[in-house]
Amino acid sequence: MSEIVAIEITHHQLLLDPPFPASWDPKPRTKFPVTIVRVRDSEGHEGIGSGDVMYGFADYAQYFIGEDPLALAQHAARLANIEFHAGRPWPLDVALWDLAGKIQDRPVWQLLGGTSPHLRLYASSAVHRPVSDMVSAAQRVIDGGFQAMKVRFGRPSIDDDLAVVSAIRDAHGDALTLMVDCNQAWRMPWDTTRPWDVDMAASVAARLHDEGVFWIEEPLHRGDYVGYEELRKRVGIKVAGGEMTREPYEFRELLQRNCLDVFQPDCVCSQGITGLATLAREVAAAGHIFTPHTWGNGIGMLANLHLAAGTVGQAGSQWVEYPFDPPEWSVARRDYPLAAPLEANNGWIELSDEPGLGLRLDETVLAATLSAEATFS
Ligand SMILES: [Mg+2]
Repeated sequence: MSEIVAIEITHHQLLLDPPFPASWDPKPRTKFPVTIVRVRDSEGHEGIGSGDVMYGFADYAQYFIGEDPLALAQHAARLANIEFHAGRPWPLDVALWDLAGKIQDRPVWQLLGGTSPHLRLYASSAVHRPVSDMVSAAQRVIDGGFQAMKVRFGRPSIDDDLAVVSAIRDAHGDALTLMVDCNQAWRMPWDTTRPWDVDMAASVAARLHDEGVFWIEEPLHRGDYVGYEELRKRVGIKVAGGEMTREPYEFRELLQRNCLDVFQPDCVCSQGITGLATLAREVAAAGHIFTPHTWGNGIGMLANLHLAAGTVGQAGSQWVEYPFDPPEWSVARRDYPLAAPLEANNGWIELSDEPGLGLRLDETVLAATLSAEATFS
């Protein structure tokens, strides 16, 4: 048995010129921060994770050093305790799964019990473009081989948002399955805008149902269980959410109250691969869709793809998020820590059979982007 001998955390910032005007951030982003977590064992294996910044985590490394790297449940339980004291440490859980795969010479999706490495993707857009440019962006998505696209709401007027959906439908018909993200559970630290209430959410949901949109995402705050319960009774469209929901008891509440049709937690933000593998199976057993949020860099996306493929598979996830909105959000920007970007193949992705997550870092780029902090501007 090997033991864990080191945990190394580094921050990196890619300068974005031109900036990235993410719809969910009122300030155009001039930097793309990435935190890399490496965990090494006494036999020379190295696991890699990424996600939250993990400031201050060095104080807690002692609870992992000297331990069996394959004691994944114990590590996840300690990380759940540390989350209370020091922010979200889940990139280490991802790195430990990568390490476990390398020790056992198997890909993570197989360690989780998956039977197929194939997942169908949806192109997840980010930028609020004028209507005609959104139609062009949808054409780029179709040209890229995708059959589904997610559109962001949050323009000054809801009518402007709805006009985008109508225009894409008018131009492209049923060539694309559409999803809409209302981002009502996400705020930047300074943004104190109130989330929608259930009447607003229901009125938007009804309009999107008429347009044949597949799901409406985060039309309410993540903790508005009463609102979600009511919304699902009032509308026919699928309701998605949970990307920033953290605790197992919160997900239990969402499940028991029938708040959501589509569960979207992200293993680099909540509970790691260990915790979300259990949740994914519970969601599927309840007849719901489990399809993780993947927005971030390619390492986080890959971790979530392994999670989906290893648990509910294609049938249980239906569509998995592939951040793609060139030129501002290109695959090259998204995957800059990786030696090779994660390319979709005609709207699908095939996970490799390489051990762990099957990723290789671009150490030259990481050295050139090394930074003391991980901020967006
Ligand atoms: Mg979202």
